[in-house]
Amino acid sequence: MSLPAPIQNLIEAFSRLPGIGPKTASRLTFYLLRAPDNFSLDLGQALDELKSGTAFCQTCFNITVAGRVECSVCADDGRDHSTLCIVEEPLDVLALERTGGFRGVFHVLHGALSPIEGVGPDDLKIRELMRRMQGGEVREIILATNPSMEGDATAMYLWGQLENFDVQVTRLARGLPMGGDLEYADQNTLLRALAGRQEMD
Ligand SMILES: [Zn+2]
Repeated sequence: MSLPAPIQNLIEAFSRLPGIGPKTASRLTFYLLRAPDNFSLDLGQALDELKSGTAFCQTCFNITVAGRVECSVCADDGRDHSTLCIVEEPLDVLALERTGGFRGVFHVLHGALSPIEGVGPDDLKIRELMRRMQGGEVREIILATNPSMEGDATAMYLWGQLENFDVQVTRLARGLPMGGDLEYADQNTLLRALAGRQEMD
């Protein structure tokens, strides 16, 4: 006997999520099957609105509300648009915003270089960053990729790419736990790393 297609489809969809194996995928599916109707309806609606209700900022690629061209940070004239903080994920923007200690703007790469996972420069928002640099407004770049092997490799790569621009390039100070994620760092550690950022050489 094979499982009905709707069950099979959901198991397959769940399996495509990072960190979810076939076993967890079927456990989630059968959980939803047994749960009250409105549970899966709410989930479906949330999934639907995830895409339809959000968009990426066309300047920094942070998340914004659907229908807006720029995110609230880019649209804020009170921010220092000459200081650009480069992060891997939108959640890193949130983490840095929570510290309240950064008044510049961001650029979200949407990942980090990883030869093992087949992520190259073209898979990240690097071309968009270079285009942005050509505007000439940016004076300092803070490389705030994660303190991991991939994050470091990405920072080194970007440093090389930025050589031709008249811009100061700094890297967040050590002190963030190695292999850790920026988004999980506590506010004080992040603030210290930001304040102690060092010029790359
Ligand atoms: Zn933006």
